Amino acid sequence: MSDLSIELTAPNGHKYTQPLGLFIGGEFVKSSNGQKLTTINPTDESEITSVYAATADDVDAAVKAARKAFKDPSWRDMAPTDRGNLMIKLSDLVAAHAETLATIETWDNGKPYSVALAEDVGEVQNTLRYYGGYADKIHGQVIDTGAAKFAYTIKEPLGVCGQIIPWNYPLAMAAWKLGPALACGNTVVIKAAEQTPLSILYLATLIKEAGFPPGVVNILNGFGREAGAAIASHLDIDKVAFTGSTSTGKEIMKSAAINMKNITLETGGKSPLLVFEDADLDQAVKWAHIGIMSNQGQICTATSRILVQESVYSSFIADFKKHVKEVSIVGDPFAESTFQGPQVTKGQYERVLSYVQAGKDEGATLASGGEAFTSVGPSGKGFFITPTVFTDVKPSMKIYQEEVFGPFVVIASFKTEEEALEMANDTTYGLGSAIFTQDITRAHRVAKRIEAGMVWINSSNDSDFRIPFGGVKQSGIGRELGEAGLAGYCNIKAVHVNMGTRL
Ligand code: ADP
Repeated sequence: MSDLSIELTAPNGHKYTQPLGLFIGGEFVKSSNGQKLTTINPTDESEITSVYAATADDVDAAVKAARKAFKDPSWRDMAPTDRGNLMIKLSDLVAAHAETLATIETWDNGKPYSVALAEDVGEVQNTLRYYGGYADKIHGQVIDTGAAKFAYTIKEPLGVCGQIIPWNYPLAMAAWKLGPALACGNTVVIKAAEQTPLSILYLATLIKEAGFPPGVVNILNGFGREAGAAIASHLDIDKVAFTGSTSTGKEIMKSAAINMKNITLETGGKSPLLVFEDADLDQAVKWAHIGIMSNQGQICTATSRILVQESVYSSFIADFKKHVKEVSIVGDPFAESTFQGPQVTKGQYERVLSYVQAGKDEGATLASGGEAFTSVGPSGKGFFITPTVFTDVKPSMKIYQEEVFGPFVVIASFKTEEEALEMANDTTYGLGSAIFTQDITRAHRVAKRIEAGMVWINSSNDSDFRIPFGGVKQSGIGRELGEAGLAGYCNIKAVHVNMGTRL
């Protein structure tokens, strides 16, 4: 082991070299005061390793490297097609290293390996390739104002972008942020969540191998209050993009005001899933399960409030409970049969259990799950929780209003479409939403009135890298993914040319 990397063997026997440093100016370095953070395997609570954790001085060094790279002709003047090709090369490298990346993600985060490989790493490949394709298709306009003037616009990169990502999809969130930023020609200082620092460092080695000029992408690990806060308040960062909790998003907005940074925020949610009596109940049950129980329920768009029309309420609950029992196999995330691994940290695990208690205290019915489940593997340890279903939940209850971020769903009933909409919109959030009905006019009528950034009709959490993603109300500002995602990473400069001798 050198100070900056370590040979590791993951629980599935996969051996690889894990970088441990901060990736600044194209090199791995130690933190300025030598501080590290330790990451824990949520499956058995063992320490995986410790990585260097950035101080405010390290953030400053990363910003300097990013600013230098932004001004350097090797990046600034690179043909957009070449920039796109670098991103596509990175996508290919991610594909070539998919098993290592998925192994790290499962070990550090606890998500099932099959999901990490097919979905998370697949999403990284797709997103980088998609935005790589956009790099030479980001055009301005010519605006005809008459013969006296020639006017046109240029889409320019913003400059140095700070990006702060969460622990639920470490690699995919990195790709969502890096893709549009790099396609537009920005440089980046990105910070991973302290709970899941490992996979992004491996991605750094691929960024280097792809041949990005040094300093174009700088990758930091570090604590939110220290490194994250230093990014949000840095005077030489032009934009901050954040995915995480609503409370942290608000703090970042305040810090970003210091130099009026451009901001994109993707924050919390308590997304409703509406089941009308004319729905295909079998489909509704299956999608409702995917919408809340995937990724251990640690999804910002999780459809965590299921609202069911009174006439089908009991049958939906019976079928849903049966389906959860059959499909939500909790266990070792490296085992093929596992649908649900551990919660990411002890803190999250305890948080979910505290909501189980709150639901009981408030008088909701615990229809299934809600138990700590620590018997996976010989250690008898791990942050596992059985999939939790509360029924007879009222909109006034805490478990109806607050984001739990776990395998935890509340089910309530409604009588009419109007009441369904009222209940669905009775939240400070507005991220995802889902509607199950066979009536196409109802589907579009409800889609129009629901207060959310995204609506799935007869599905849930069926997101796609080509389609805009983001929220309204306290679920965020701006959009990621799709063509819309580019808007958050470029300025429009207007150029006015006097074509004659006016004045
Ligand atoms: P959670 O509570 O689920 O861990 P957070 O919103 O706190 O979610 O964390 C998401 C990301 O924001 C992480 O990378 C974290 O380090 C970072 N972060 C946390 N607090 C701050 C802060 N005050 N300023 C900037 N970044 C922060």
